Amino acid sequence: MTAKSATAAARATVYGYPRQGQNRELKKAIEGYWKGRVTADALRATATDLRRTHWRQLAEAGIDEVPTGDFSYYDHVLDTTVMVGAIPARHRGAVAADALDGYFAMARGTQDVAPLEMTKWFDTNYHYLVPELGPDTVFNADSTKQVDEFKEALALGLTARPVLVGPVTYLLLAKAAQGVAADFDPLVLLDSLLPVYAKVLADLRAAGATWVQLDEPALVQDRTPAALNAAARAYRDLGARTDRPKLLVASYFDRLGEALPVLAKAPVEGLSLDFTGAAAANLEDLAAVGGLPGKRLVAGVVDGRNIWVNDLEKSLTTLGTLLGLADRVDVATSCSLLHVPLDASVERDIEPQIVRWLAFARQKTREVVTLARGIARGTDTIAAELAANRADLASRAGSPIAHDPAVRARAAAVTEADARRSQPYPERTTAQRARLGLPLLPTTTIGSFPQTNELRTARADLRAGRIDTGGYEERVKAEIQEVISFQEKAGLDVLVHGEAERNDMVQYFAEQLTGYLATQHGWVQSYGTRYVRPPILAGDISRPEPMTVRWTTYAQSLTGRPVKGMLTGPVTMLAWSFVRDDQPLGDTARQVALALRDEVGDLEAAGASVIQVDEPALRETLPLRTADRAAYLGWATEAFRLSTAGVRPDTQIHTHMCYAEFGDIVQAIDDLDADVISLEAARSHMQVARELARHGYPREAGPGVYDIHSPRVPSVEEAAELLRTGLKAIPAERLWVNPDCGLKTRGWLETRSSLENLVAAARTVRGEL
Ligand code: GLN
Ligand code: ZN
Repeated sequence: MTAKSATAAARATVYGYPRQGQNRELKKAIEGYWKGRVTADALRATATDLRRTHWRQLAEAGIDEVPTGDFSYYDHVLDTTVMVGAIPARHRGAVAADALDGYFAMARGTQDVAPLEMTKWFDTNYHYLVPELGPDTVFNADSTKQVDEFKEALALGLTARPVLVGPVTYLLLAKAAQGVAADFDPLVLLDSLLPVYAKVLADLRAAGATWVQLDEPALVQDRTPAALNAAARAYRDLGARTDRPKLLVASYFDRLGEALPVLAKAPVEGLSLDFTGAAAANLEDLAAVGGLPGKRLVAGVVDGRNIWVNDLEKSLTTLGTLLGLADRVDVATSCSLLHVPLDASVERDIEPQIVRWLAFARQKTREVVTLARGIARGTDTIAAELAANRADLASRAGSPIAHDPAVRARAAAVTEADARRSQPYPERTTAQRARLGLPLLPTTTIGSFPQTNELRTARADLRAGRIDTGGYEERVKAEIQEVISFQEKAGLDVLVHGEAERNDMVQYFAEQLTGYLATQHGWVQSYGTRYVRPPILAGDISRPEPMTVRWTTYAQSLTGRPVKGMLTGPVTMLAWSFVRDDQPLGDTARQVALALRDEVGDLEAAGASVIQVDEPALRETLPLRTADRAAYLGWATEAFRLSTAGVRPDTQIHTHMCYAEFGDIVQAIDDLDADVISLEAARSHMQVARELARHGYPREAGPGVYDIHSPRVPSVEEAAELLRTGLKAIPAERLWVNPDCGLKTRGWLETRSSLENLVAAARTVRGEL
């Protein structure tokens, strides 16, 4: 093995591409199909078109090997479920009747049948559909999607590499099907799954595939010896088959750690490793195992998850080191480009100079090509690109947007005391009780009330200039009046203004904070046909003026009951945005926290006695590796405290979390030092209340008694029963009564009845105390 042989072979590739199209054509076609406005054939034609367009884009940019099979009508893990024939029993009828409708039934459910559960794809904001498996699961390979899409790319004259979710990751992402013991371990199915993968691989080989990629991102998490053994066994088995293509086992999102030697020894022809961020540790680890002699290494040196221009020279240095460690080194993005928008060059509202700092999928593709050319033919062949890249990086590094001296000075001067309330919780709670005078089991909501069509129309009218700011604000105020008057009538104790003015809980603040950028077309798939446009944390963050105060004050002017101020917390502001790559996340979080601290202070000064700072994303940005978690939770909880700790002892700080199980972060929740936390709990029958109790959580808590993910109205007795369950874990003096989350996705009709029932349930249970 010599560096020279590696150099000669360098190729550019990626593992996947945004699916939606420049104008979200895929979303429109699929939603049109659901509504019966687009035929199945028309939908298929749109999909075929998009795949072609995307492969051509990649090939024209100079990508040597395009990925196939990564395209999906909804989700690639669901596609894998179909590929291996693991259709849950309740969906088999629908799938047999019509494959496409059955597919969407698994994804979204029907009137009669529940969909597969959806959960986050590692620590990204993409959601996949969880495979449901059991001891009786029988796998079979009768889907032709992989072969068909591979042939489509071949027909365009391209070199293509099918990309599949690997068998070990597939099983590790699965859960026990309904009716199967919850401790069922899907890994026991490995032996029956492998023949199906072997068949798909053989079919791809027969169709002309030289290489096939098997994605095993689950191996970048802490894994048991049993799981690592399963990986060894899987690739020994697949590797030993003769009628197969060459296998590239891909990892991304973090370092492989103890899985690296396992895969390095496996009889496969190539590995893909991530060399960005925390995964850069792969470099040393790879050297420690003696490299990958005789194998192909695909090096993910261009970050596939951020939106920043790559530091090409730095990547070339990494690649230079890697050239000595494998037989052949190819260049790639660190993961599929699914997680970034398609094209930065179409952004018209961002200054051209700043657009040059950005790299979305199309720009990242070009970076990969440039780097591959640089190592294949020498860096002198990419001198122009390197010079332009240096200029862009310098422009960003030297920009006043990236460095605001006032913000930096303030962040540097933060002391430990700034992040600590002036009195400990037991004393504060006495002061708060005296000030608020609430009954036992106080009732409240999480913040948002239904976002009506009129509100959305009013916002669209404002954007289009059909109404002016004054007209828009009148609409919002009318809505606030309605929300306040309903809550008073319903008998809620702590009211909210309803968040009518907010398009989104992160974007609303991002638009008002200096240092944030918004895109016009930066859509990223969250799940299925839901796309989001995360704002970009581009520079130092400051708050030019109050962001929410006038709405809260207006609401408070309409009622004698306390109205909660309502803010999005610093960690969630980071989690649902694209973050900076030029400073530690904790530094960015601190800047956001200080801006929020000013808002909290202004709310308090305006008379707010209760202020809620939402952190629904605290759990979801937890690092994939346990070893990295303490550091994350350290800066994350500090940022929350910094944003809230400046208030008086008798001002009550609430927080809210949802979308996750919280059992493993109760200590961190405690470290937030919030006075009250509301949590999603209705579906799990107050599980989180028991977890808080087990930990000895000392503060007030409102485990949700109304599942807001469904239009169903909970009965008084149902909510009362949940409260009684909650009371077994949390004493009445510390138990709040609230829904699981905000009501913005609900209609007014069910919201009214549900909240009336919630209040009635609180009264019933108060009567039993
Ligand atoms: N305050 C927000 C709302 O009520 C919280 C949303 C969330 O937790 N996702 O909508
Ligand atoms: Zn929530």
